Formats: sequence, C-alpha cells, structure tokens
Amino acid sequence: KNHRHEKDSETNVQVLLRCRPLSDDEQKSNVPKVVTCNENKREVTVMQTLANKQIDRVFTFDKVFGPKAQQRSIYDQAIAPIVNEVLDGFNCTVFAYGQTGTGKTYTMEGGMRTKGGDLPAEAGVIPRAVRQIFDVLEAQNADYSMKVTFLELYNEEITDLLSPDDNSKPMEEKQKKPINLMEDGKGCVFVRGLEEESVYSVNEIYTLLERGASKRRTAETLLNKRSSRSHSVFTITVYVKETVIGDEELIKCGKLNLVDLAGSENILRSGAREGRAREAGEINKSLLTLGRVINALVEHSPHVPYRDSKLTRILRDSLGGKTKTCIIATISPSTYCLEETLSTLDYASRAK
Ligand code: ADP
Ligand code: MG
Repeated sequence: KNHRHEKDSETNVQVLLRCRPLSDDEQKSNVPKVVTCNENKREVTVMQTLANKQIDRVFTFDKVFGPKAQQRSIYDQAIAPIVNEVLDGFNCTVFAYGQTGTGKTYTMEGGMRTKGGDLPAEAGVIPRAVRQIFDVLEAQNADYSMKVTFLELYNEEITDLLSPDDNSKPMEEKQKKPINLMEDGKGCVFVRGLEEESVYSVNEIYTLLERGASKRRTAETLLNKRSSRSHSVFTITVYVKETVIGDEELIKCGKLNLVDLAGSENILRSGAREGRAREAGEINKSLLTLGRVINALVEHSPHVPYRDSKLTRILRDSLGGKTKTCIIATISPSTYCLEETLSTLDYASRAK
C-alpha cells in the first residue's frame, strides 16, 4: 500500500476527476482533444505543446471518470458510500469544482425529473442521493424525519433558493429577507432566516429542487452566455430515531451537503471587468479559502481558516474531523480549455 492511500483514509478527503465528452458542436468542428483518461490507472494526461515540443503532464486522483462514464457509475462508485456515512450519523460534503461549461451542474443535478418514479439515466448526484436516503430508511422501516435547505452564495451574500415566491411584489423586492450567518456559544455556525423545509417524500424534494435550481442566478459574460457566478449548497439533514432504552430516546443525525461551486475560470479571460471585478474577487475568495481549508485538513495543520469565507463558515461542521469530503473536479477535453484544465488539475491535486 502506498503512502498516499494511508494519508487519504486518515483525512477523509477524496478527489475525483471527471472529463466530459466533446459536445456535438465541438465534434462537428473537429476541436482537438488534449486530455486522455485512464480510469484503471486513475490517471489523467494532458498534452501540452510548448516551443514545438509536446510535453505530457500526468495527474493521479482517487478516481478518474472519462468522457464515457455514466452518471450512475459515478454515483455508485463514489457517492453511495458517502451517503451511507450520512445515514450512520456523520456529516459529509460533495463539491463540484471546475471551469464553467465542464459539467458541474450536470454532475450534481443532471436530469432531475422522474419518469414514473424511475430516475432518468442522466440524473445526477443530488436526485440519486435523495433517492438512496429514502430507499434505505424505508427498507429499514426506520422512524425518521428530514429537512432540506437550498441556498445560493453570490457575491458573499446568501440567497434562499427555497423561499416561497411572492408574485405580488416586483422582482427587485423579492428575496430581500436578510439572511445572516450566526454563531452560537460553541462556535457552531447556522444560517438565520433560511427556509427549512421538512420533507416526507422523494417527490416533495424533487419539487423543491426544481424550484430552487430554476432560481439560481446567472450572469451574462462574453465567454459564456449563462456563466454561473454563484455557489449553490443543497443540504439534507436526516434524523433517525434509534431504539428507545427506558425513557431515553436516541436520535441519530447526519447531514449531507451537495455543493455546486461557481466557475473557477480566470475572470480576466472572460472579458468581465470593473463592476464584476469585486464579484469575481469574492468568488475567488470562497474558492481559495475552500482550497486552503482542505489543504489544512489534509496536512493536519493546527489552524484551519474556516472563518475566511462564508462558504467555509457555512460548511464548517461538515469539513474535517470525522466528516467525509469528496471533490469532483470537472474538466473539458478541448484544446481551447487547456489553460483552465491545467489550473483545475493543479487545484484538485493540491486538495489531496
Ligand atoms: P457547468 O455547470 O460546469 O457550467 P454544465 O453542467 O452546465 O457545466 O455542462 C455544460 C454542458 O455540457 C451542458 O449542456 C451539459 O449537459 C453538458 N455536459 C456536461 N458534462 C457532461 C457529460 N459528462 N456528459 C454529457 N454531457 C455533459
Ligand atoms: Mg453550472
């Protein structure tokens, strides 16, 4: 057994790499591919040409999923074990990290609509996790309850994606309810003013999800029509009543955070400036802080800078300690994304 594996099991941080296929348009225009994936060796190779010399760079991850990998196989291999931890009473977080257009939302949400109760093949991590949680608890005949929250972090401001629509008000006045991060005496952070919905069925969660997902804010940039500048955090908290001993009632509580991070691309390249610069800085702050927090956890550093960004404050009780963290880094195989691809691979490698 190699050293890295021992380190991984100690730190409970898993890093997966997913490379999407070329789109139909990219295929039609014969966009050159510069990424090859070897799933068995868990390796990604990027072909880079520098001064007319081809230089291959090879990166290794805990798991590698190539362009043909199905949603279901990623879920079964990488996420299902994490959801089982949640059902055992642990807090866990799954992140999607990568450049806009590489498949973060596809990986996390995918197709969410159910067809006659069955998940579509393109269903992503969130609907599959919801389904697994209900299926396991129902099969165990467990006495359980569940709460979900869905928030968006945009420009270091929190928006509740589940707050009910009030159509009597103009757009600008909607969602103005202040949402703040509060700390209790023990240093635990909670989000105050956030809608917390109790859910009783899979379909109820799917309805909430669709409502929330369509609310996600997007902004126009020159590089991408709907470039996502926000982080979204979908959280399910599961409470399971354990056997009652005398008057004592034990409740096992586990939390699963599913996070679709803002696009990691360099803001200058997308042509956005000034007004957007602050926005970009804030986004990078959360992403950078997340990277630093994960590095600190992996390296067992005595100081973990949770407090440096809202995202890491929100997720504090679900990062580190006995929690499990999974980062799904997403990349494009296209030569036109080479620079961003290398930057994603570097970021993801540092998180291991
Ligand atoms: P992001 O959220 O990272 O900006 P998206 O999830 O919106 O990227 O993906 C961009 C486009 O690529 C979408 O049309 C999506 O359906 C498609 N796509 C992404 N990943 C895959 C994949 N693994 N297989 C097929 N299509 C994909
Ligand atoms: Mg997206």
